[in-house]
Amino acid sequence: MKGIYLMLGGNLGDVAVTFREAMALLSEKKIMVLRVSESYRTPAWPDASQPEYLNQAIEVSWEGTPEDLLANIQEVETALGRVRSVRNANRTLDLDIVLWGNAVIHSPALVVPHPRMHERLFVLNPMCDLAPELIHPTLGKTMAQLREHLRSG
Ligand code: ATP
Ligand code: CA
Ligand code: CA
Repeated sequence: MKGIYLMLGGNLGDVAVTFREAMALLSEKKIMVLRVSESYRTPAWPDASQPEYLNQAIEVSWEGTPEDLLANIQEVETALGRVRSVRNANRTLDLDIVLWGNAVIHSPALVVPHPRMHERLFVLNPMCDLAPELIHPTLGKTMAQLREHLRSG
């Protein structure tokens, strides 16, 4: 299965190095990295006094279920030092499933498309590098249109 897009984020440690390590660990788990966006620096939100974030989108291929992909990426987060505490806490690595082709998933542990992706320039900018014409399965707009909407809104 192709057309699966993951978002990498982090704001603790040498995040660029962590992203490279994450991609190596993903490959070991048969989550094949097909394409990689530019990386983007963004002030921390909601508290801009915290270290800034680095974000990057990747397209991967994966032959298992969405639930198994989530479990695998959570293992990679943990392996690279992610500690879960309060919401929006600083983190070495966050891995989210942004899109899974045209699939719409609503399970207790997994919502795809990622429910906040269209509100976040730090997701839409790297997604526009990889797939500007890709249409959001429920909003019916391309990544480029969603970004334009957010910028002008
Ligand atoms: P946000 O979801 O707003 O980006 P976050 O990434 O900081 O916040 P986490 O603490 O990393 O949130 O994850 C909380 C839970 O979100 C995870 O345990 C996972 O079960 C769930 N989740 C739901 N949908 C997704 C998705 N598309 N990708 C990754 N995790 C998801
Ligand atoms: Ca996230
Ligand atoms: Ca997450």
